[in-house]
Amino acid sequence: MRILVVEDEPDLLASLARALREEGYAVDTAENGEEALFKAESYDYDTIVLDVMLPKLDGWSVLRRLRQTKKTPVLMLTARDAGRDRVRGLDSGADDYVVKPFDLDELFARLRALIRRSSNQTTTIIEVGAVKLDTAARRVFFRGQPVELTAREYALAEFLVLHRGKVVTRTELYEHLFDEDDSTLSNLLDVHVSNIRKKLGAEFIATRRGHGYCIE
Ligand code: CA
Repeated sequence: MRILVVEDEPDLLASLARALREEGYAVDTAENGEEALFKAESYDYDTIVLDVMLPKLDGWSVLRRLRQTKKTPVLMLTARDAGRDRVRGLDSGADDYVVKPFDLDELFARLRALIRRSSNQTTTIIEVGAVKLDTAARRVFFRGQPVELTAREYALAEFLVLHRGKVVTRTELYEHLFDEDDSTLSNLLDVHVSNIRKKLGAEFIATRRGHGYCIE
């Protein structure tokens, strides 16, 4: 999953981006409203974390303008004294919000919930054949036994499972799993898929030659 984080405090932006990458997300960043709007309109992010108080264009204006063209899920970071902000945010088309200063675990939980909702996934546990994904705990089981996946492998497996029944192209996978700073070589995608098949069974991910990958 690829997330855009918009925050003008450099330390907070850096620590948020680092924490999200450790969770296995691909993370792009923006430090002001104009940059945020440009990136949000250019890429199909899985979620945007958007601070309200921003230079150049505030978070509400970014959200309002983005909503004219895109439904990307948006989680607002609002100020503490923000009873009004909350109503305003939901009226402007925000999908959720957290109040600063926030707990990272709470932010992660809300992000996972947003991503689930946008994939029309109502439960946190998803079973596909012998494979079970717990998207809340980010754990994977094969034939009932826990399996260790790397953060990237998990992200890839989760993306395919959330889009099961559809062929996901390699381009889509690159756009949603790797961020703007990622210089990973293209053949690594095949390495990740191959490693996942070793751990979760060869039949878990089907290759649609010339098209992409698919989980039935
Ligand atoms: Ca700010």
